[in-house]
Amino acid sequence: MANNLSTGVGMTSQRTRLRMIERLRQQGISDEVVLSVMAELPRHSFVDEALMSRAYDDVSLPLGFGQTISQPYIVAHMTSLLRNGKKLGKVLEIGTGCGYQTAILAKLAKEVYSVERIGPLLEKTRLRLREFRFTNIRLKHADGHLGLPEAAPFDAILMTAAASHVPEELLAQLAPGGRLIMPIGANEQRLHCIDLSSEGPVQTVLEPVKFVPLLPGLG
Ligand code: SAH
Repeated sequence: MANNLSTGVGMTSQRTRLRMIERLRQQGISDEVVLSVMAELPRHSFVDEALMSRAYDDVSLPLGFGQTISQPYIVAHMTSLLRNGKKLGKVLEIGTGCGYQTAILAKLAKEVYSVERIGPLLEKTRLRLREFRFTNIRLKHADGHLGLPEAAPFDAILMTAAASHVPEELLAQLAPGGRLIMPIGANEQRLHCIDLSSEGPVQTVLEPVKFVPLLPGLG
């Protein structure tokens, strides 16, 4: 990408990004494919100008509309879990937000569908992602509780907002052998991994996390 989004200067330079990658390695991220994509993608281009200098810190940042972009560690960890060492096929992301996670998935997967309930946020993100000229991203203004039946089944589903339970609709839209990664809980949340095996869904509870809630309906 030879545009000004990917060059960056000062606090947003390639060197700063490589320091983030080193930190992710120290934090236990070992999927080199994920790390190389994160080393390439200018995270600062996904936050407002006033926050750009903090884009590579290990913190979540406000993205407007009361929502947050997840910290780099969580993005790397969830993407590694979703990939599970394999190439990603058709992926559904629930909670597009600023589009950073969407862009990472687009570099790793054949096709990415991403749904967001806040219309104006989705439109802002649509314009931002256009600059990157991805050809494999489809964005939809929709309630992620329902998944995206018209594009199902998905090889992998990633939810970036916390739900109270696993929506039946999402399980129904997972391809055999597919994997769903999502945070579950209210005050106390944990990451859950659901694999659709030939005997049915196998759910594994992982570490505590902190996400904005999955809200009902459209915003
Ligand atoms: N992956 C995003 C994280 C954004 S925070 C990023 O990197 O920026 C979670 C997002 O989920 C918010 O944008 C929020 O509006 C969205 N969200 C919450 N409930 C939703 C629902 N029911 N359907 C779709 N999106 C939802």
